[in-house]
Amino acid sequence: MAQEHRDLSGRTVAVTGAAGGIGAATVGALSRAGAKVALGDLDVAGAERVAGTLYGPHLVRELDVTDRASFTAFLDAAEEELGPLDVLINNAGIAPAAPFVDQDPGMIARTIDINLNGPLIGTQLAVQRMLPRGAGHVVNVASLAGKSGPPGLVAYAASKHGVVGLTEAVRAELWGQGLDFTCVMPGPVQTQMMDGTHDVKAVKLIPPSEVAAAILDALRTGRPEVYVPRNLGALARGGLLLSPATRIKANRALGVHKIYTDVDPRAREDYERRMADA
Ligand code: NAD
Repeated sequence: MAQEHRDLSGRTVAVTGAAGGIGAATVGALSRAGAKVALGDLDVAGAERVAGTLYGPHLVRELDVTDRASFTAFLDAAEEELGPLDVLINNAGIAPAAPFVDQDPGMIARTIDINLNGPLIGTQLAVQRMLPRGAGHVVNVASLAGKSGPPGLVAYAASKHGVVGLTEAVRAELWGQGLDFTCVMPGPVQTQMMDGTHDVKAVKLIPPSEVAAAILDALRTGRPEVYVPRNLGALARGGLLLSPATRIKANRALGVHKIYTDVDPRAREDYERRMADA
């Protein structure tokens, strides 16, 4: 199917969780494509470091995606300094890996707050700005875990299924009003989020730049659902044709169930500390 090609040059794009990993890679790719980029993150020093690598127009703001006032101030600053918001990329997220029965309830709540309430707040605020102009694009970075159920990531999977649902529902509700909504489902990506997780032969980590490239492609084409790498889409859809028991057995046979259940706590220490502060 022929896809529309939209120029990103001169567009105002706000990115949450811009201080590292996928967010930082996306900000870099956007800036190289000529976009004006607003970087928001709790880790403002980290976001400043990323901004230091950019040549084009940009701004950095401290942002807590769970706080509506903070999110509003971030988008206000982006519009005042860079121009009307064309794109919001809801990317900030945390992934605490733990057996669900023993998981700290506070961390479960925080996961839902950052990964699901954050995109709900951001999507609503962006849509309120975009609807009167009849144009705009919201990209929600979910995960393959939004279409599957990896053991060790129960709260995370719940939050990401929520992101998939919110994106589909808002797209349906506002269909035909000039706005685009994209949900991105990356498999495991080589960022701090994967520190200390179990290596599995069947699963190859992809670099954050590959997710960034897929996000830019979606912005140019308006593609609603993006798996990274692309063949994960067929795998996810194929998996859903199996019974739940067969799916679990297949993942166990491949060792995939160990990725987040057999983690090395020492190698994950830094990331866990960062999440506790988030
Ligand atoms: P990362 O930890 O490198 O980056 C996440 C960023 O979000 C950090 O800079 C962090 O400071 C920021 N953040 C956390 N809480 C925040 C808050 N309340 N407000 C604002 N910023 C906050 O992780 P990443 O791997 O780049 O993940 C980015 C997104 O991609 C997440 O939504 C994640 O769930 C998703 N994802 C990651 C993977 C993976 O394997 N790494 C796979 C699929 C999906």
